Amino acid sequence: MLTVEGLDVAYGPVAALHDVSFTVAPATITAVLGANGAGKTSLLRTLSGLVRPRRGRIVFDGQDVRRLAVETIARRGMAHVPEGRGVIAELTVEENLRLGGLCRREPDGDELDDVLERFPALRERRRQPAHTLSGGERQMLVVGRALMARPRLLLLDEPSLGLAPRVAAQIMALLRRLRDERGLTVLLVEQNARSALSVADHGIVLNLGRVVASAAVEGEGFLAGDEQLRRAYLGF
Ligand code: ATP
Repeated sequence: MLTVEGLDVAYGPVAALHDVSFTVAPATITAVLGANGAGKTSLLRTLSGLVRPRRGRIVFDGQDVRRLAVETIARRGMAHVPEGRGVIAELTVEENLRLGGLCRREPDGDELDDVLERFPALRERRRQPAHTLSGGERQMLVVGRALMARPRLLLLDEPSLGLAPRVAAQIMALLRRLRDERGLTVLLVEQNARSALSVADHGIVLNLGRVVASAAVEGEGFLAGDEQLRRAYLGF
């Protein structure tokens, strides 16, 4: 689904990513872990075309998308949900969701029903303005809005930040279902390693812009053989 090769990203003199390479298999969840400033957000912003890399290749579904416009990449099936749960506060839940389908060329189809079915809390509040939602509901709204575009790859930045553990667990369960039922591929950036590893198939650890570990995940056994790495980057 995605192959990243030798990616270098810098903001002027500040290096954010250096020689980052990895692959993501279809219908899997890959967790991208690492401390503040490791380069996780820069990685997602580069994949979706918001930031231009200095070097490297980004092959999405067989095509190099590195030089394509953001909207072209989105239309090809990559959806990016940034950190911060940005919604249009004055619009209703349903209107926010419909915005997510605007980049599709084909008509709406059953997407709205499908999303409302997956998120009963949003269905109940579909006519309410988005500013009335709780943090967890807003997170569901931004994921639901991304799903309206029928993506094949979902880039998700820190969805559990600031949420109660029970709500974060609901978000992770939702990602698991989207992978299993829809074959969605997910690249999940998280500082909360435990939360991400509860659903991930593969884990990547970034430190100061470099990949320092990349391995299959078996629950909390991720990097079990490397106590130092676990303590330094996963915090348990
Ligand atoms: P966080 O979890 O704090 O968001 P992160 O792992 O997502 O951290 P990035 O936000 O990608 O890391 O930051 C990587 C590096 O790039 C940091 O040194 C950061 O200060 C720098 N950086 C990020 N965005 C910019 C920018 N717009 N201009 C200049 N430097 C930036």
